[in-house]
Amino acid sequence: MEKRGQHTAVEAVLIPIFILITVFGLINAQLIAHLMKIQDITFFEKKFLAGDAATIIDALYAVPGNAIVLYSKDTKWFSFEFKQDEVAITDETAAIQLKTVYPIMASKVNSLSPVILNPKFAKGEKTQDSLKVKAAPIFTKVGKGITITDKQQPFPSIMQIPCDASPAPAVNTLLLDAGHGDDDFGFVGNSLNEKDLTAIIASNLGKSLIGLGFDKAKLFYSRKSMDKEVGQQNKAALPEKNGMDFILSIHIGENKGSSNNVKAYYLASAGEKVRKQSRSIGCLALNSLVARPELGITGISLLPTEEDEHHGAMMLDKSIPGIILEYGNIDSQESTAHFTDGAPSLQAITAEIAKALGWEGAAP
Ligand SMILES: [Zn+2]
Repeated sequence: MEKRGQHTAVEAVLIPIFILITVFGLINAQLIAHLMKIQDITFFEKKFLAGDAATIIDALYAVPGNAIVLYSKDTKWFSFEFKQDEVAITDETAAIQLKTVYPIMASKVNSLSPVILNPKFAKGEKTQDSLKVKAAPIFTKVGKGITITDKQQPFPSIMQIPCDASPAPAVNTLLLDAGHGDDDFGFVGNSLNEKDLTAIIASNLGKSLIGLGFDKAKLFYSRKSMDKEVGQQNKAALPEKNGMDFILSIHIGENKGSSNNVKAYYLASAGEKVRKQSRSIGCLALNSLVARPELGITGISLLPTEEDEHHGAMMLDKSIPGIILEYGNIDSQESTAHFTDGAPSLQAITAEIAKALGWEGAAP
């Protein structure tokens, strides 16, 4: 009996231990299954995207002026959440969504508008089809603010140059120079001569100004003013320069590419007043041209030039405000198509230039 009693005592200890082990085993198996489910298989992708996005923002903070960055990596499965100090990426296809966060350098000067791109889908609504829309972030820096949008939102026009607060008084006497002329063809490309296109622009601009009430007697053309067409080299001493409010010299660029940039040059060596007025009108013209999406302008620049630096700078005068407006690219059909006589975009171009000269209204 004593022995049997001993045996019972051993059983009484072992059976509960066995039950405990079994229960713990089951709990562990459940836990492992759960961990398998939430394992973060896209951790490296998320870390990469978060790091990239944060680095772009850090770089934009450091960029002087305005800038735009299109981020075109394959971001299909991921949500981007931007806050002032961090970027968080979520895998929208994961069963349990874990954010991967990357810090953004703090900036006291610049600001970032918080936004979530590709916002989370409601539970049960998320399928691979519903995720086919990519959240491809477009980073835009205007002044000191950064905004981030995706492809579904309208592309912002950011190419604006800060102009002087007080606009120059309207131009009432103007010397209009169609760049080059006579045996000086200017740039040649795309079966076109620069001198022919500048003549089309100048004559259309003249008509547009007169249509707006500009006094015909106060409008002078550099190439039409003598019996023989005037070439570039003979324009420096044009007597018509005297008493002008403004000199506008029109050129076409040459980029050997497809870009449609517009540049306005003003004379660096002119006195402060003349330089300021020239820069101001150039700035207005560039900003109003680039605001027209139908003109397809890819970039604008406002640049000081020296008398001998640019092929048209000799046209400018230290004592008279003026700019050389170099429009587009002779090599590009896309660019020169705007200068066909009667083209709607030529009307738009000349209307915007007229506006910059202080002749408002009648812009089509
Ligand atoms: Zn030229």
